[in-house]
Amino acid sequence: MKETLLQAVEADLFRPWYRLRFSAVVEDRFEADTSARRRRHLLIAGIVALVIYDLYILNDYVIRPESMQTAAWIRFGLMTPAAIVALYCVRRRLSPAMREATMAATLVLGMLCSSLIFYLSRSSYSFLDTFSFGLILVVGNILFSLRFGFALASSLLCGVIMTAFVVPYSYTDSAVKINTLVLFASSAVFTLLANFRLEASERQSYLLLLREQLRANAALHDNQALTKISITDPLTGVANRRHFDTMLELRWDEALAGNTVLGMLVIDIDHFKDYNDHYGHLKGDACLRQVAQEMQNHIRNEVDLVVRYGGEEFVVLLPNASVSSTMRAAQRIRQGIEALAIPQAGPGVITVSVGAAALRPHESMEPATLLSIADAALFQAKRAGRNRSVLAPLQDGPLPA
Ligand code: GH3
Ligand code: MG
Ligand code: MG
Repeated sequence: MKETLLQAVEADLFRPWYRLRFSAVVEDRFEADTSARRRRHLLIAGIVALVIYDLYILNDYVIRPESMQTAAWIRFGLMTPAAIVALYCVRRRLSPAMREATMAATLVLGMLCSSLIFYLSRSSYSFLDTFSFGLILVVGNILFSLRFGFALASSLLCGVIMTAFVVPYSYTDSAVKINTLVLFASSAVFTLLANFRLEASERQSYLLLLREQLRANAALHDNQALTKISITDPLTGVANRRHFDTMLELRWDEALAGNTVLGMLVIDIDHFKDYNDHYGHLKGDACLRQVAQEMQNHIRNEVDLVVRYGGEEFVVLLPNASVSSTMRAAQRIRQGIEALAIPQAGPGVITVSVGAAALRPHESMEPATLLSIADAALFQAKRAGRNRSVLAPLQDGPLPA
């Protein structure tokens, strides 16, 4: 999934300059990442625009005192409630297209209201307002930065509305009308060009940022995968000896600091050479995997660690243990493996011998001490006839739990 998104982002980076939209998968991500910010922006910009729009009532007072009441009705009775409803809807989670359409519709309504206000007045200055209608385009195309398609559509509609009111207006001559319409048209072209550039650069920066983010994630993922490989035994999937060396030091220090008991099992498959010689190495490998898996079934996940120490020898590290919990783990594992009932070369099934040790680390000891006493216990288990667990005798010095 991540891989395909990265590929789509890279392809989108080279899309033709006139295509603003991304491919579907990137567009979805773009919306998901930016829509909250965009909603907030539209809300603030919308409130600012509405306040200024309403403040134009002062302009009405100066220019068309005779139709102040009409202007007030249109501004406060029509435009303001409609804009508030629109902004409320935008604040709720509208789909991206609905969000843009709502803002564009509000602009078009603003244009309609402004046109009505100027048209319904017979004041000699009333027509002057049409020279500032370009501000509506500035609001939509620059301040709101409507997505280009919506900016284009709303600018065209505003142009049509303005023309429809300007052309039949009887109190101004045509030269002035042409002048205001040309001014409006040029404002539309300029602000639309700016709008296009704004959206294009916003989208391009987003793509570059997203590409960096995805690449960083991929690198992190690769790194984690490599780390996992470097600490895992490839045959059995349990920890390897390198990881064991690191973890033994770590757990030892933790136990020392917390004055807790560290347990360890050294486990060796009985007569595995016979099994190998009889069934061959491939079967031997499968048996090792099965045995290792069975050990995993009897330990505390995320706490204990099963390690393939070498050949058919395993170690289990048991932090925060006690002598009895260590012995119980040894028994569970030994019995579990016996219960797998993997047929041995001769009579009987595959079994293991376990050397168990548990102690409270002390400054005067080395972590290797634990391994060597567990190993000595394993030797005892082998000597005593195999398929058994032997607990290492209590150590001199600090008492185990
Ligand atoms: P004991 O009960 O005394 O442990 O007898 P054993 O036969 O298991 O003892 P030994 O250590 O002599 O034999 C270990 C055998 O394990 C030797 C080798 O054939 C086998 N072995 C070691 N590593 C691997 C491995 O990676 N794959 C396979 N298939 N066999 C292995
Ligand atoms: Mg063996
Ligand atoms: Mg061995």
